[in-house]
Amino acid sequence: MMPELPPPTLRLRLDADALASNWRVLDAMSGTAAAGAAVKADAYGLGVDQVLPALRGAGAQDFFVAHWSEVPDVTAHVPPAQLSVLHGPVHRQDADYARQTGVRPVINSLDQAGLWLAGGGGPCDLMIDTGINRLGVAMHDIHDAVLARLDVVTLMSHLASADEDSAFNEAQLGRFRTAAAAIPARRRSFANSAGIALGADYAFDLTRPGLALYGGVPRAEMAGTIRQVAWPQAAIIQRRQLQAGDSVGYNATFTADRPMVAGVISLGYADGYLRCWSGKGALKSGDAMLPLLGKVSMDMVVVDLGNASHLREGDWVDVPYDLHQASVTSGLSQYELLTGLGRRFRRKFQQG
Ligand SMILES: *Cc1c(COP(=O)(O)O)cnc(C)c1O
Repeated sequence: MMPELPPPTLRLRLDADALASNWRVLDAMSGTAAAGAAVKADAYGLGVDQVLPALRGAGAQDFFVAHWSEVPDVTAHVPPAQLSVLHGPVHRQDADYARQTGVRPVINSLDQAGLWLAGGGGPCDLMIDTGINRLGVAMHDIHDAVLARLDVVTLMSHLASADEDSAFNEAQLGRFRTAAAAIPARRRSFANSAGIALGADYAFDLTRPGLALYGGVPRAEMAGTIRQVAWPQAAIIQRRQLQAGDSVGYNATFTADRPMVAGVISLGYADGYLRCWSGKGALKSGDAMLPLLGKVSMDMVVVDLGNASHLREGDWVDVPYDLHQASVTSGLSQYELLTGLGRRFRRKFQQG
């Protein structure tokens, strides 16, 4: 038998109350529409096993993943009829799998509609492409006879620029209304997180937030109401004294100009803390800033402990992860910041 593992040196505190609160905020902002939840990519990297019970507890009833491979982890927590697979039935096996599990495929093309019907059809969702030119049936195909044979539960489309004040939003809205008038469906769904902030016209019957559930703030309207969910921390694994002239890390990009106390931290690009943070990132201990010295390595960063010289090996430091601010500093999107958080973080859900 393997002995129990020693304590981790990377941990991710997940604030269950903030997650539930964010869903309720988005549901209220959705007006008469219900808010669903995009839980693809392991709930944006935070972990479906913990995120799903919290979202269901808050009241969410409609869930979205991208891949078929993501279905088992979600249906462990959610009735299959409440789950849709956005990438749709590309292969016959996908359609068979949908039928056998009871999850809904999102039909994205006329070919997929034909494939679904050939296997016997049944309730499905239908994606219309209103301008993003990614997945979805083209506007010039919305009157195709094959679509009229589908049993569409949710007719949907996806906004390209909802995080901007762009005329493209209204153009897509107009096209979606045209599609909704042409294709019978039990309900309609258009807005992602940012789209919810565009107002009641964009909400229809069901909204599909992802990012903002997990603490992302895609539009200024959500600042102040959306709460941070993910709080990463990393341990100091070595404390070292630098002399003037000592350099730090690969390629010796930082050289001390005076004696300094440095901390080697158990956090690197393999954990999602990418090299773009080199030279501009800082970790924190309480209010004390601990600027990065040199390059980010795969498993480590080195920080200046000058503002917190009492810290010792084994102590925890905070990785600032206000997603809006972290995105501005790093140049990574808020989505990348969340979904990149690696498997070496021990995820811990905390209530209160
Ligand atoms: C990912 C996704 C969403 C959620 O988008 P956010 O910007 O994270 O809120 C909604 N709808 C579709 C089709 C998606 O692919």
